[in-house]
Amino acid sequence: MGYIRDNIERLKSELPEDVLLVAVSKTESPESIMEAYNAGHRNFGENRVQELIAKQPLLPRDIEWHLIGHLQRNKVKYVVPFVSLIESADSVRLLEAVNKEALKADRKIRVLLQIHIAKEEHKYGFTMEEIEQFFSQGGSPKLSSLIFSGVMGMATFTDDREQIREEFKYLTDCYTNVKNSFFRNDERFREISMGMSGDYAIAVEEGSTIVRIGSSIFGERQ
Ligand SMILES: *Cc1c(COP(=O)(O)O)cnc(C)c1O
Repeated sequence: MGYIRDNIERLKSELPEDVLLVAVSKTESPESIMEAYNAGHRNFGENRVQELIAKQPLLPRDIEWHLIGHLQRNKVKYVVPFVSLIESADSVRLLEAVNKEALKADRKIRVLLQIHIAKEEHKYGFTMEEIEQFFSQGGSPKLSSLIFSGVMGMATFTDDREQIREEFKYLTDCYTNVKNSFFRNDERFREISMGMSGDYAIAVEEGSTIVRIGSSIFGERQ
């Protein structure tokens, strides 16, 4: 007991004040999540819709849920009514689907553009070319129920710290480009979500504003 609380407090004291800690609670029980909640924590991340919609009704309403995993378009309607931030917006068709459901739910939904920064093929995300094409063709005004809030990325799963750093630097460059080109006067576009248990220190050095941390809070997942 107290283990989760201790980890949260240690991480919060370590992180700069303006970096948001998202506790990644995938595979964790509502009891474990409540331990973090009772330590004052409110931002949690889940990567699977089924799991998120099973847990959300069992937990306090003031939790801010971040969706951090690939979202299928046919599942958008389940999360739009309550989600706080969709960090894993990875295609134009998904953005359109979220906008449509947001209109129905009469909500504005904050989204991050997930950008493919890893060397691994299987990871999801936009390329910079796709993002530039989308916004320069006037894509965003049509999606009036979305609040474009920044970018998200996942580094390659590797022990090579320099490679990870290069990938995070690239994400920060992407953020700066998109910001300057399309959101220069929009203060809501401000987040760079990068960094997990193994690499958050590097991410923070490279400009992260949101870190997504699971195992360093809850312990190793089964
Ligand atoms: C699981 C996961 C994390 C957290 O991973 P840890 O290594 O346990 O900190 C962060 N981001 C995403 C997208 C994840 O799926």
